[in-house]
Amino acid sequence: MALLEYRKKRRFAETPEPRGKRLARRSQPIFVVQKHRARSLHYDFRLQIGGVLASWAVPKGPSMKTSDKRLAVRTEDHPMEYAGFAGEIPKGHYGAGTVEIWDAGTFTVDGEGSAAQQLENGKLEFTLAGKKLAGGFVLVRTGRGWLLIKRRD
Ligand code: MN
Repeated sequence: MALLEYRKKRRFAETPEPRGKRLARRSQPIFVVQKHRARSLHYDFRLQIGGVLASWAVPKGPSMKTSDKRLAVRTEDHPMEYAGFAGEIPKGHYGAGTVEIWDAGTFTVDGEGSAAQQLENGKLEFTLAGKKLAGGFVLVRTGRGWLLIKRRD
């Protein structure tokens, strides 16, 4: 997917966030969770899919408990370089506030078909290999948005 919406919202001369360019594919896709203290605190959950970071804002943050169903609001795709971004988005800018990397690592796709296909179908199963988050997860699209749920390993 293109980064048009991502770029449209930002003035790159004035924010330290990356503009984004195409990067070579790595052997294993990455994920990152960025703790974002903006107007309201949330955790941006991002998975490398199709050369960009598919993104969700998770108000309560991801949980390792299988009984927790965390609301995840789909947001615009972000460029791959955003996975390394931490810092201050200036006042008056989209997402103004501080961003810190809460967890990062790689993931594998578990369900049937590619990650992009599963996303399209509204149910994506994957296994994270991070420091805080490890093991199987699922993102499910519901009538009120997506849910991020830890699977039983
Ligand atoms: Mn955010």
